[in-house]
Amino acid sequence: MFTIDKPLPAITEDGAPYWAACREGRLAVQRCTACGHLRFPPAVLCPRCLAEAHEWTPLSGRGTIYSFIVVHRPQHPAFFADAPYNVAIVELEEGIRLHGNVIECPNEELRIGMPVEVVFEKIDDEVTLPRFRPRP
Ligand SMILES: [Zn+2]
Repeated sequence: MFTIDKPLPAITEDGAPYWAACREGRLAVQRCTACGHLRFPPAVLCPRCLAEAHEWTPLSGRGTIYSFIVVHRPQHPAFFADAPYNVAIVELEEGIRLHGNVIECPNEELRIGMPVEVVFEKIDDEVTLPRFRPRP
């Protein structure tokens, strides 16, 4: 059967440390060393104070579902076989919002505010994707 590879995130120079952390099974974001603002997605300048200086700081990986959809008609053929699948926005404890799929939970049981935690799925040697699963 003919299959189409799923598109993967582009790993940019600014985002490389984020993806390196994912490969190690943890979430990390830039923290501005001038004002403390957490930056996501990674950027050259702090959107709050415009400082360049930053350090990478770990995140808890715990959060709640801020919003979600269930996709029944994917736009990209590589996802046709996965439908219906969910895409959620998870608000982490630190206030960062990430997109991802919630796994280990039927789509019908997803709820806004549901507590979730990050898990990682290795796609290839470069890309390990964060996904989320319900937590007690
Ligand atoms: Zn700043």
